[in-house]
Amino acid sequence: MTAHMTPDEFRRYGREVIDWIADYYENVESLPVLSQVAPGDIRAALPSDPPEHGEPFEAVLRDLDDVLLPGITHWQHPSFFGFFPANASGPAILGDLLASGLGVQGMLWATSPSATELETHVLDWFATLLDLPSTFRSSGSGGGVIQHSASDAALVALIAALHRVSGGRTEREGVGSGRYAVYTSEQTHSSVEKACRVAGLGADALRKIPVDPATLAVQPTLLREAIETDVRRGVTPALVVASIGATGTGAIDPVGELADIAHQHGAWLHVDAAWAGVAAVAPEFRWINDGVGRADSYCTNPHKWLLTNFDCDAFWVADRAALVGALSILPEYLRNAATESGAVIDYRDWHVPLGRRFRALKLWAVIRWYGAEGLREHVRGHVALAQEFASWVAADDRFELLAPHPLALVTFRLRAGDEATRALMERVNSSGELYLTHTVVDGKVALRMAIGGTLTESRHVQAAWQLLSSP
Ligand SMILES: *Cc1c(COP(=O)(O)O)cnc(C)c1O
Repeated sequence: MTAHMTPDEFRRYGREVIDWIADYYENVESLPVLSQVAPGDIRAALPSDPPEHGEPFEAVLRDLDDVLLPGITHWQHPSFFGFFPANASGPAILGDLLASGLGVQGMLWATSPSATELETHVLDWFATLLDLPSTFRSSGSGGGVIQHSASDAALVALIAALHRVSGGRTEREGVGSGRYAVYTSEQTHSSVEKACRVAGLGADALRKIPVDPATLAVQPTLLREAIETDVRRGVTPALVVASIGATGTGAIDPVGELADIAHQHGAWLHVDAAWAGVAAVAPEFRWINDGVGRADSYCTNPHKWLLTNFDCDAFWVADRAALVGALSILPEYLRNAATESGAVIDYRDWHVPLGRRFRALKLWAVIRWYGAEGLREHVRGHVALAQEFASWVAADDRFELLAPHPLALVTFRLRAGDEATRALMERVNSSGELYLTHTVVDGKVALRMAIGGTLTESRHVQAAWQLLSSP
C-alpha cells in the first residue's frame, strides 16, 4: 500500500511548515542577503541517489535548514535591493497554499468554475484599483488573465498581434522569414527579444529604437522612421512594445504617441509595466499610465511590488477575440456544453499552457487583506524612501544620479567611473548586509537601488546608504 500522508500527519507537518515560515520571516534580517556558496556546493551535500524507502517529513525540514538555507539568496530580506524585489506576504502565501490544497486545473470554465470566475472578477477589481481604461474590463470586448510572468505576457501579445495583422494566416502558415517586425526601446527588457525567438520571428525581427538621452524613453520620430522603412521594404509591422518602468532605469515611454504610430500601420501596442504598473494603486502615480487607453494590451506584476508571491502577472487585452483567435484549438476531449454555449471564458485560450493553477486565490487574498488603502500605503512608503535615498546621492559629490527616479528605483554611480562603481557594488554585496545589482546607462556602469521589499523600512535604506557612502 502506498503510504500517503494521512490528514493527521498533514496537520502535524503542516503546522511545522507554517511555523518554519513564520520563524523564517522573524529571522530573515539576521541572514546574509546574498548566498555565499560556490557552484556545486549544494549538490555536493545531497545524496547522489534518491531514497529507496520513504523518509519522515522531518528529514526534509532538517535538510532545508542544513543544506539548502546556505544556498538561498534571501529575496524577502528587508535589505534586498537587487533586480526588482519579489514581494511575498502572509495572505499571498496562504492563498497559494489553498490553491495547492485544492489542486484544481482551471483550464476550462467547466473544470472549476470558481477558478475562472474569481480570476475574471479579481482582474476587473485590479483594473479598478489601478484605474485602467474600461477597454480592459471583461464587461466590454477585453478582459484580464493571470499569466505566469511578464515574459509570457509579451509572448502572447506577440502571438495575438500576429493573428490580427495577418488576418489569422500566421496560425496556419507560420511567420516566414523577414516578413514581420517588432519594435521596442533599446532599454526594454530582454523578454521581448525572447518572445521574438520563441514565436519563430527570430531576433533579427526586433528593431531596437534609440532613446532620448535625458528621459531614456523611446523617441517616437525614430519609431515612425523604423516602421516606415520596413513598410517600404515589404515587412509588416506586427507589434510595438512600450515600457512603463524599463528594467534597467525605470524609463517611461510615451505610450499614447507610440500607440498612434503603431495603429497607423496596423501594429499592436503592448505595454510592459511589469514592475512600475502597480504604483497606480495610488492616484498620484497614475500619470505613469497616460495613453494606456490606446494600448491593445497591458501587463504588470503583483509578484514584483504588490505583495503577491511569484507567479502572478496581470495581463489585460482590449480585444480578447484576437488573443483567443490566436491560441484557441478545440480537440474533441475538451468539448463541453459550457464552452459550446459561448457563455464562459476558457482561460486555456488566453495563454500558452493548457493546465493552470488557481493563482487568483492569492491575489484575491492580498487585495482583501490589505484593501485599496493598504496597497496605496505600501507603494507610497517605498517611493518616499527612494526619494530620500536619491536626495542623499544628489547631495554627495562623489556620486551622480543617472536617470529620472519618480518611483522607487534609483540609478546612480560613482563619478570616479566604471571600475570604482563595480568595486563598490562588489564590496557592499560581499558584506552580506545588502544586495543590489547594476545596469549600463548610456555606456556607463550604474548601480540600481530598487526599494520594494515587503519588510523594507527606513532604517534599512539608511544602513544601505551608510555602507555605500563610507569608503
Ligand atoms: C521584471 C521585468 C520583466 C520580466 O518579468 P517576469 O515576470 O519575471 O517575466 C519584464 N519586463 C520588465 C519591465 C520587467 O521589469
